[in-house]
Amino acid sequence: MKKPVYLDYAATTPVDPDVAAAMMECLTLDGVFGNPASRSHGYGWQAEAAVEKARREVAELINCDPREIVWTSGATESDNLAIKGAVSGKPNAHIVTSCIEHKAVVDTCAWLETQGCQVTWLKPDRTGAVTPSQVEEALTDNTVLVSLMMVNNELGSCTDVAAIGSVLRERGVLFHVDAAQAAGKILIDLKQMFVDLLSLSAHKVYGPKGIGALYVRRDPAVRVEAQIHGGGHERGMRSGTLPTHQIVGMGRAFALAREKLAEECRHIEALRKRFLDQLEPLPGVSLNAVDKSGARVPGILNLSFAGVEAESLMLGLREIAVSSGSACASATMAPSFVLKGIGLSDEQAHRALRFSLGRFSTAEEVDFAASQVIKTVEALRSVRRPPAQGR
Ligand SMILES: *Cc1c(COP(=O)(O)O)cnc(C)c1O
Repeated sequence: MKKPVYLDYAATTPVDPDVAAAMMECLTLDGVFGNPASRSHGYGWQAEAAVEKARREVAELINCDPREIVWTSGATESDNLAIKGAVSGKPNAHIVTSCIEHKAVVDTCAWLETQGCQVTWLKPDRTGAVTPSQVEEALTDNTVLVSLMMVNNELGSCTDVAAIGSVLRERGVLFHVDAAQAAGKILIDLKQMFVDLLSLSAHKVYGPKGIGALYVRRDPAVRVEAQIHGGGHERGMRSGTLPTHQIVGMGRAFALAREKLAEECRHIEALRKRFLDQLEPLPGVSLNAVDKSGARVPGILNLSFAGVEAESLMLGLREIAVSSGSACASATMAPSFVLKGIGLSDEQAHRALRFSLGRFSTAEEVDFAASQVIKTVEALRSVRRPPAQGR
């Protein structure tokens, strides 16, 4: 059977063949398999050198010092380390976040609420934007941390991190940014933005699953309390033997992302336009969370189809792999909390599908997807209202 067309790059990406090749060299006896913490022999030194090269590659993509990179198991762990680590020992800490963050942030903040922290859940506008003045108004004397995502995983909308960072630096409040969907897709220059903590993941950028990083600013120095204790790796912030092959994969993936960023952006923007142009003749299609002024990444399109349930549409679209809500939420039938968070009704949220494009997407795939969508939506609409008599 032919595989369905993959249009779910926001859920995860395939590992780039270059990345897979680099990882393969760090596994077997003839490769760089040593423990990077082994100081007494060349196996360890070689592995350490590979890990430090990857650290530089990750740092280069976001323009920071390699010493500001802490390896983790992914953006979920980075979010946990950043948020729990920043408020640790401050039981009355006030945190500001939004109600459309990734679950890794939402659930961490909700758990901290049960531990005595106070959380303000900002409501973004229709485009998914949280404004600097909204953030500023939420600050209190007890505010320790603001946590906001740079690019939303369901909507593709962008947060004005630079402007919000300036407000927070003035007020002496820590700023954590989840950049899992932003890295490799938009420019992140940490020399130009006041961000203190920033979460990254490899598998959204053509690297392997199970590896990520947390940027922890050195100047001014930011302290995060370790959440995993052990051998004192990563300057005590995250213990555990470093997975050399995973780290090398993330490094290579981030180096590739840096090289390809501009070209890839153009490629995906062109495919996005091609897809939307073909859907143009179909009535009742709306692009969620997008207006003319709003910043967005090209790869994520959240579309609602009037009169058509997303679940039925997905069943009809067996030859395309897409997602309704976020991948984590799609096991349940509850409407996406992100779409509700930008003001969509339950009904509207149930009619939304996310199409996400990436490095390996082609014009043929987009054409096929558009024709399948049109065919399926029209078929579903024609059976929508069965005759009143019958049975
Ligand atoms: C995917 C994603 C995460 C989780 O990253 P993992 O590496 O899978 O743990 C966190 N935040 C955002 C915005 C994401 O898109």
